[in-house]
Amino acid sequence: MVAHPSSRRRAIMFDHRKIGRELGLFDTDPLIGAGLPYWLPEGATVRHTLEEYIRTAERKAGYQHVYSPVLGKRELYDISGHWGHYRDDMFPPLDLGGEQVVLRPSLCPHHALIYRSRLHSYRELPFRLAELGGMYRSERSGVLGGLTRVRAIQLNDAHIFCTLDQVTQEARAALAMIRDAYAALGITASRYRLSLPGPGGKYVAAPEQWDRATALLTEVLDGLPYEAVEGEAAFYGPKIDVQVTDSVGRESTLSTVQVDFHQPEQFDLHYVGADGARHRPVMVHRSIIGSVERAVAHLIEQHGGAFPPWLAPHQVAIIPISGAEMPHAQDLARRCLDRGLRPRVVTPDGDSLGARIRESRLIPYQAVIGAREAADGQVALRLRDGRRLDPRPADQLLSRMEALVRSHRVELWD
Ligand SMILES: [Zn+2]
Repeated sequence: MVAHPSSRRRAIMFDHRKIGRELGLFDTDPLIGAGLPYWLPEGATVRHTLEEYIRTAERKAGYQHVYSPVLGKRELYDISGHWGHYRDDMFPPLDLGGEQVVLRPSLCPHHALIYRSRLHSYRELPFRLAELGGMYRSERSGVLGGLTRVRAIQLNDAHIFCTLDQVTQEARAALAMIRDAYAALGITASRYRLSLPGPGGKYVAAPEQWDRATALLTEVLDGLPYEAVEGEAAFYGPKIDVQVTDSVGRESTLSTVQVDFHQPEQFDLHYVGADGARHRPVMVHRSIIGSVERAVAHLIEQHGGAFPPWLAPHQVAIIPISGAEMPHAQDLARRCLDRGLRPRVVTPDGDSLGARIRESRLIPYQAVIGAREAADGQVALRLRDGRRLDPRPADQLLSRMEALVRSHRVELWD
């Protein structure tokens, strides 16, 4: 089937691999290997900014951050069920003097052990552990490409250990965090999917637990438009997937909320209840933006490289008309840095002013510095969308930009 020409053109225009290379965000090298992209400085800036946004939102929502290793003994994944149900997607074990170690396919087992390492009272629940950590998937080389299908994944992950009564509230709070993040990122969810098990042996058995977990998630989705789809659940439990659609209509999952009775049992997790007895917690797995790779790929395609101001690799293009204004441009750049803004001085170097403004077209704010601006300290700001503001004192503009960036809004100005 031949794609409609306009949709094909659109696919080329918004292909994150093409834009990612043009903007110097990420790249790959055959010597590193397929499905193992590296992040260039501007891409690393976007990623770091996104990660810090997520960590801040998690801290405000009562999550505690941990770090755990990307390797674990094979036995760990025997217990969690990954080795039995998910082995085809895992890298082969490494033999270390008779001991088998594997690259982890998920962070859940490590977090279950971190929870288990301390005694927990019911008063500490919900106990929320978060980590932006690495995991690995042995994707076939034929399907690898850009940032959407990779073998090394950085996942925005969290596990909430709580009582059965707390599950719906925690899952609802996670959906609210997802909505807030999407508003800040300028992403629209195309639909909610209740992902249920399908036929076949890739799911742990325990019909009662599946029914109970499904009932809880159905309650959470009450009032939201969603579709139940069989065959999309995790091997240990059902999940809510928040679906997004890219510029050519392909759907994928960024964010998920999952209810799991299986791993708390496998790892014999417990808390001490008000009655002084041991009780089993429930594990809620949730991810706000999913993997950093897929989230950035989606953001690139969604915005065609014109990121929201707070996320843009460079936020202010400072364009001196001639070499004479360079000291003034450098001074303005220094004042941007002092306020936590990311400036880029676009030096004359023989390029025309028009060419330099075009080159900066994806940078949210552009300040052209001529002799008059250098003399009176005023700046006539251009916005990426073509608007031009009247000349104003530089400090007044910088403090407004700083406030807009800090508020994580998608709008350029108001
Ligand atoms: Zn998990």
